[in-house]
Amino acid sequence: MPVGLSPATPLVERMRGFGTTIFAEMSALASQTGAINLGQGFPDTDGPSSMLSAAVAAIEGGRNQYPPGPGVPELLSAVADHQRRFYGLPVDPASQVLVTAGATEGIASVVLALCEPGDEVVTFEPYYDSYAATIALAGAVRRTSVLRFPSFEVDEASLRAAFSARTRLVLLNSPHNPTGKVFSRAELELVCALAREYDAWVVTDEVYEHLTFDGVEHVPVATLPGMWERTISISSSGKTFSATGWKVGWVTGPAPAVAAARTVKQFLTYVASGPFQPAVALALGLDDSVYTGLARSLERKRDLLCAGLAEAGMAVSRPSGTYFVVADAAALGASDGLAFCRELPALCGVVGVPVSVFHDDVQAARTLVRFAFCKKDEVLTEAASRLATLKGREVGAV
Ligand code: PMP
Ligand code: GLN
Repeated sequence: MPVGLSPATPLVERMRGFGTTIFAEMSALASQTGAINLGQGFPDTDGPSSMLSAAVAAIEGGRNQYPPGPGVPELLSAVADHQRRFYGLPVDPASQVLVTAGATEGIASVVLALCEPGDEVVTFEPYYDSYAATIALAGAVRRTSVLRFPSFEVDEASLRAAFSARTRLVLLNSPHNPTGKVFSRAELELVCALAREYDAWVVTDEVYEHLTFDGVEHVPVATLPGMWERTISISSSGKTFSATGWKVGWVTGPAPAVAAARTVKQFLTYVASGPFQPAVALALGLDDSVYTGLARSLERKRDLLCAGLAEAGMAVSRPSGTYFVVADAAALGASDGLAFCRELPALCGVVGVPVSVFHDDVQAARTLVRFAFCKKDEVLTEAASRLATLKGREVGAV
């Protein structure tokens, strides 16, 4: 077939099927209908005021031009200090930290830097949507293991089966979006043992590292014995400091891996978020109470929303971390989560996200819906009372 202009389908084949993200679709639906948006995960309150003031000061102080490629020096140091302070990891700010345009660019830089076309990437499903798209962009192949509602436990046999001689990396996410699961130490050790057996990298997305509940511990993969050398960790200020629009993320790991990611990152954005970087550096150094205060507040919000979903008649998987809870709409008569979510604003004035869009095996999540609880208490209370009106109603048509 001649290669040339194909006006009807200009998109490269490997990106077909990605269309518009579910977050964009559902946020648009919320604004069209005026429904409460528990779809896209973003808080409706601001982060620490000293961080906000530092960004204003950076803008007014003239820090508005390109920052250095790897990140501003004070943020590189602050990320390294954070890794030592919370996890005891000695990280060299000059060679082992890279600042990126959010975790999204961190993930893309690392996957594009490490994967040759045809290499395999092992990940759990449901997976955060950018994983599938990024793996496709790299020309790599996704191999998955399903986490099943309601416990979302790792299934050892299917995880093992996902590994092969072509496995280049494992793309992990704990605390996990969309399930709210926090991987146990034993589960992480299993993943790491397989990564060692197949000589694969572990790329670990820990953007919700500080958002865990009920005393459940987040175990950073890089702290597990023998794992530092093969682990690339990714995080972001968006969740920890309630500033999802700032897009300040970072990659940490062994110097050669960080250098590889930096090589790619230079040609994705070169740099981003100039004046926000010093503000995030300041925030990372704030008192422990800033970190724990947000987690405790989200824990309460989780309880509020879980109670509302249960009241509505849905089975709920109580999350140990993140912004999200997954509930099953099957008991309400729903048979297709995507159709149910498209109908939900009309049914009760609330927006959620169908979990099936984060799956290859869509049957595994046919009637599951993710709701975000990173919202003001009064918003959650109102959403809960709207959801409660679903109880006993016939939504079987969707
Ligand atoms: N990973 C996960 C698991 C996420 O939920 C998100 C969305 N916030 C990201 C990465 C992207 O983070 P950022 O906004 O910093 O790019
Ligand atoms: N991480 C956010 C979520 O899971 C969405 C980010 C985005 O819209 N890409 O809701």
